[in-house]
Amino acid sequence: MSETSGASNFIRDIVASDHAAGRHGGRVVTRFPPEPNGYLHIGHAKSICLNFGLAQDYPGGVCHLRFDDTNPTTEDPEYVQAIQDDVRWLGFDWHGKLFHASDYFEQLYDYAVRLITKGKAYVDSLTADQIREYRGTLTEPGKNSPYRDRSVAENLDLFRRMRAGEFADGTHVLRAKIDMTSANINLRDPVLYRIRHAAHYRTGTTWRLYPAYDYAHPLSDAIEGITHSLCTLEFEDHRPLYDWVVEQAESTHRPQQIEFARLNITHTVMSKRRLLELVGKKLVTGWDDPRLPTIKGLRRRGYTPEAIRAFCEHIGVAKRDAVVEMQLLEHFIREDLNKRVQRVMAVLHPLKLVIENYPEGQAEQLDAINNPEDLSAGTRKVPFSRILYIEQDDFREDPPKQFFRLAPGREVRLRYAYIIKCVGVTKNPQTGEVTELRCTYDPETKSGSPQEQRKVKATIHWVSAMHAVEAEVRLYNPLFTADLAKVPPDHDWTTYLNPQSLERITGCRIEPSLKQATPGSRYQFERLGYFCVDSDSSRGPTVFNRTVALKDAWARIDKSQQTR
Ligand code: ATP
Ligand code: MG
Repeated sequence: MSETSGASNFIRDIVASDHAAGRHGGRVVTRFPPEPNGYLHIGHAKSICLNFGLAQDYPGGVCHLRFDDTNPTTEDPEYVQAIQDDVRWLGFDWHGKLFHASDYFEQLYDYAVRLITKGKAYVDSLTADQIREYRGTLTEPGKNSPYRDRSVAENLDLFRRMRAGEFADGTHVLRAKIDMTSANINLRDPVLYRIRHAAHYRTGTTWRLYPAYDYAHPLSDAIEGITHSLCTLEFEDHRPLYDWVVEQAESTHRPQQIEFARLNITHTVMSKRRLLELVGKKLVTGWDDPRLPTIKGLRRRGYTPEAIRAFCEHIGVAKRDAVVEMQLLEHFIREDLNKRVQRVMAVLHPLKLVIENYPEGQAEQLDAINNPEDLSAGTRKVPFSRILYIEQDDFREDPPKQFFRLAPGREVRLRYAYIIKCVGVTKNPQTGEVTELRCTYDPETKSGSPQEQRKVKATIHWVSAMHAVEAEVRLYNPLFTADLAKVPPDHDWTTYLNPQSLERITGCRIEPSLKQATPGSRYQFERLGYFCVDSDSSRGPTVFNRTVALKDAWARIDKSQQTR
């Protein structure tokens, strides 16, 4: 069994019982059907894990990757490529089952001709506004179009001429003939085809009319022999139409649509329209901006596919919409990285520290543990010398009560090294800013030595000034200052962008073992968080993205909920 097979949920239960009952000839065929009009985000990852995960749970099970490309004006091969990369990166494989709704345009057209011949579809020549007006409302029934009773022959002729490109956009549509008084608005003669004189990225200008989603989607599922067609809740009311289309097209195969709740996460955006706007208006640096919840953004930020899969497994699938806290996603990346990444020392805001009794020009190599969670990861050497950098935050000239780190006259342990004592402070005479600490070290207290015993209240990290590598570090904060779901629709949502969402810190100092670190490599900077080398690192100093800070807010929330 794959790692994605885990706790049961209502969809797994349905598939399991269908499989046990021998429905669909014992086959399990799912599909992931993105429209190539943007990049995938963490919400899509939920659907990917669900669809590919289900298929993996059954021998011979397969999940198709199908590009739902019926809208020529918004789709682009760039997205097609990015989506394939992302699905693979998440750890899934479609085993050659790569399809496009546009592969079926000819077949879909033939099905439409069949519907017309059966008197189940007609060409309507009302304008879009009139169609809307005739549709009625939730409380009022719709009215029949005056064109509803066109003869089959006339409909066939018009539909053929729509295909031939004889008519302008918007002049005619093909509609299903169902019921204008249905309580379900989706069944009030839905539009099946629209005229669009637009080039499609795969079929070029072959087609002048394009099928609607509600028509193309069920038939694509039927053509591919999909057994369970999983979609998000907003399609629940479309299910009767889905079934109607498959039935009227007389497909021998009947896929079953099952709806589940979309994933929403606080303080971020998941709507493709909004993501496109952020990228298009350059409010972020691109689809892979580490602040975005796109797969490419999360990946660049340092997320692992394992953490994303574990998160999706944990949130499960349900029938009710819910918003998940960003901290929960962060909890999963922290858990994953904690087990596997190397610890290193890095100083983001350097404060110079001189050890007065350590000989000038001398250096020694100290042993540092690579990962206390995994001792098989071994140790490395970290150079120590007379001049070091520590974090500005780890020193207070006038320490408050609970502050146990360095202060004048105080001692701390330097991680993997010695106990030092602050014996003096140098300041900028103009500003009063502390520019340098003068310290002494106790050579008897080397970590790992038999005389290490002496205890002090705090251990801080450091790097050796002459050995350290300079780097830029990028810290990320939530992209929005408000929960967008609560922002009134008449407010410009982009005004809620957090101006502090990206914090760039230059002049950071990193231990020299990271000199050769390549883009994508991940580390824990001791006491600071998990970081990964950014793809910008080819130019200038190495750039590190903070994937996530060390503090696990979720673990605390979770605990407090359990004890309540
Ligand atoms: P739009 O409705 O703006 O076109 P979409 O998010 O539905 O965007 P698709 O490319 O159609 O985009 O999505 C592909 C699949 O991913 C669909 O089956 C959809 O249900 C699923 N999906 C999209 N967003 C989410 C989400 N937030 N949570 C779970 N599944 C999602
Ligand atoms: Mg969609």
